[in-house]
Amino acid sequence: MIADLVHNGTSFDDTPLGFSTRTIHVGNGVDAETGAIRRPLTFANAYALPYDPSDINWSSSDVNLYARNGHPNQRYLEKKLADLEGAEDSVVLASGVAALSATFTTFLDSGDHAVFSDTTYIAAYRLLHQILPEKYGIRTSMVDSSDTSAVAAAIGPQTRLVHIETPANPTLKVTDIAAVAAVVRDAERRYGHDILLSVDNTFNSPFNVRPLDLGADIVIESLTKYINGHGDALGGVIATTKERTDRIRYVYQVNYGGIISPFNAWLINRGSSTLELRMRRHNASALAVARHLEGLGKVRFVAYPGLEDHPGHDVAVSQLTSPEAGFGGVLSFALDTDHDGHNRFVSHLNVITSAVSLGHDESLIVFLGEDDERRDLYPPRFRNGFFRLAIGLEDVDDILRDIDHALAEAGI
Ligand code: PLP
Repeated sequence: MIADLVHNGTSFDDTPLGFSTRTIHVGNGVDAETGAIRRPLTFANAYALPYDPSDINWSSSDVNLYARNGHPNQRYLEKKLADLEGAEDSVVLASGVAALSATFTTFLDSGDHAVFSDTTYIAAYRLLHQILPEKYGIRTSMVDSSDTSAVAAAIGPQTRLVHIETPANPTLKVTDIAAVAAVVRDAERRYGHDILLSVDNTFNSPFNVRPLDLGADIVIESLTKYINGHGDALGGVIATTKERTDRIRYVYQVNYGGIISPFNAWLINRGSSTLELRMRRHNASALAVARHLEGLGKVRFVAYPGLEDHPGHDVAVSQLTSPEAGFGGVLSFALDTDHDGHNRFVSHLNVITSAVSLGHDESLIVFLGEDDERRDLYPPRFRNGFFRLAIGLEDVDDILRDIDHALAEAGI
C-alpha cells in the first residue's frame, strides 16, 4: 500500500509524489487489527501501561499514555501536515488560536521582545498586543509587515520572534515572507541568537504557499478553514523542526492542555484528502467573483491579491508553490452604499450565507470594520465598514447571480 511507502513525499521510485497523492496517503495506512484501509477513530483517554511503569516519563508525548499527551488520530494528521508543509514534524492542537498561543507561550519568555504584523487574526493581535505584555512581561512591537524595512527597524537585541500573517485577515494585506526572512537572518547574525519567523498561512493553505520553503521557521494554520474544508471541526497546526515540536508538546500541549479531540483530528484528516481539488475551486471562483465585483461599478473597492491592481499582487505571485496555485478564497470589498445598504444586500443573499469563518464548502459573508477595536489600524478605505467574503465551493455562476440578484433587490 502506498501509504506504507510514502516518506516525506518520496515513493516507490525516485519521482516525488504529487500534492493530492500525499494528502490522500500520508498518515493513512492499514489498521493492524481489522485490515481496514482507513485509520480508525480511537476514542480512549488512557492506554495500557507496561508491567513496570516506574520508568515512564509522565510528560512524554511519544508514547500512548494519556490522550492529552498525544493520541493516534492526532499523530496521523500531524504526519500528513508536516509532509504538506515541508516540515520535519508538526503538532496538531485544538484550534488555530491554540496553535498561535502555543507558539507564543513556548518560544517567548518574560523580558523577550516580539515583532508582529499590524493586521492579523484578532486573537493574535490581542495575545501579542495586550495579553502577553500584561500578564507575562513580554514586550511587543506592531509593524506594517508589508514594509520590510519597518520589520527590520523594529527588531532589537531582545527580539526572539517575528510573527506575520499573509494575506492578512481581514484586509488581505500581503507580506513578503522571503524578504522578512532575510531581515530576520540578518538580525540573528547581528545579535548572535536565534530569532524565529512564524507565519500564519491560514488564508493560503500549503497548496498555494509553503512559508517554510520561503525561509520561515514555523508555519501555523487554522485547520478549521481550508484544510478541513467542511466547516464542522476546529483544529490548528504548527509545522516546524522536531526539536521545536517537542518543546511545544512538552510546554504547551501537556501543560496548557489545548489538545485536539480524536474526532476532530479524524474529521480534519478526512477533509484534507481533497485539499487540492477544493483549493483550485476556491482560487478560481474567488478570482472570478473579485473581477465581477470590480466590473459592477457599485463597489467602493475590492481587495484580493489575485487582482493585478492589488498592492501585494507581485509578491503574492512570487510566493505561489506553482503556476497551478492561486490566491485563496477570501476577498474584501465595500459597496457604494451606506450602513443599511450593506445589511439590505446581505438580507437578499440566498446562496452566500451570513456567518463568520472561511474555507468552508459554503460561501460566507460578514460585515466588519465599523466598530472594530482595530479600525484605526486599517487603511482608510476599510474604516467605514466592508465585507469579508469567503468564497465556497458552490457553482461560481450561482454565486455571481446571487450577488447580482441581492444588489438589485437591495436597490444598490
Ligand atoms: N488565523 C487566521 C488567519 C484566522 O483567520 C483564524 C480564524 O478565523 C485563526 C487563525 C484562528 O483559528 P481558529 O478559529 O481555528 O482558532
